[in-house]
Amino acid sequence: SSFVESKLPEKVLQCCNGFSKPSPIQSHAWPFLLDGRDLIGIAKTGSGKTLAFGIPALMHVLCKKKQEESGRACPRCFVLSPTRELAQQIADVLCEAGKSCGVKSICLFGGTSKGPQIQGLKSGVDIVIGTPGRVKDLIESGHCHLSKVSYVVLDEADRMLDMGFEPEVRSILSHTCPVRQMVMFSATWPPAVHNLAQEFMSKNIVKVV
Ligand code: AMP
Repeated sequence: SSFVESKLPEKVLQCCNGFSKPSPIQSHAWPFLLDGRDLIGIAKTGSGKTLAFGIPALMHVLCKKKQEESGRACPRCFVLSPTRELAQQIADVLCEAGKSCGVKSICLFGGTSKGPQIQGLKSGVDIVIGTPGRVKDLIESGHCHLSKVSYVVLDEADRMLDMGFEPEVRSILSHTCPVRQMVMFSATWPPAVHNLAQEFMSKNIVKVV
């Protein structure tokens, strides 16, 4: 399929200008995610998965902004990643992709001072990308408010659980909006990931491989 068939607005597709067509995971995932469905993607880095969940995230933000013309931006989408490197990589893609449509993203990760991250949150952001420890920390200190987050992505869910982040994942999810769209990407599909999906996602999940 083509970018034209996706019927996405030009300002949202600008980041795809260098690509000839959507990657398979993108053309499979976009219609379901744009329709508000929960989705599980079994895909590795290199498949184009960042824009598979990222473009619908931009659309989610634009839709919410249109619905409630409020003043300062607040987080509407949240992406949780197990590692700093991956979080930074996702944030780079989403920051760039958001430029043409006025969507702001921030990356929250540990091992660096909190000050600039807190300032960034104060200035107003639409999408938060982060690692479990720092995000939980900034929620608990009252700097990161996820109560209006209604689009949640758990990236590399299998690795997240392997690294022992399940308590943080649960705690963070409990701070997001109870009515939310959930996206889970995982390279493998072990029972622990399956259980997490069953618990947090709707009955009507779409699985894309
Ligand atoms: P990801 O799996 O999201 O880490 O993406 C892997 C690489 O694929 C990145 O360098 C992207 O810029 C690139 N990419 C993403 N979407 C497409 C596409 N539709 N066509 C060609 N390359 C893409």
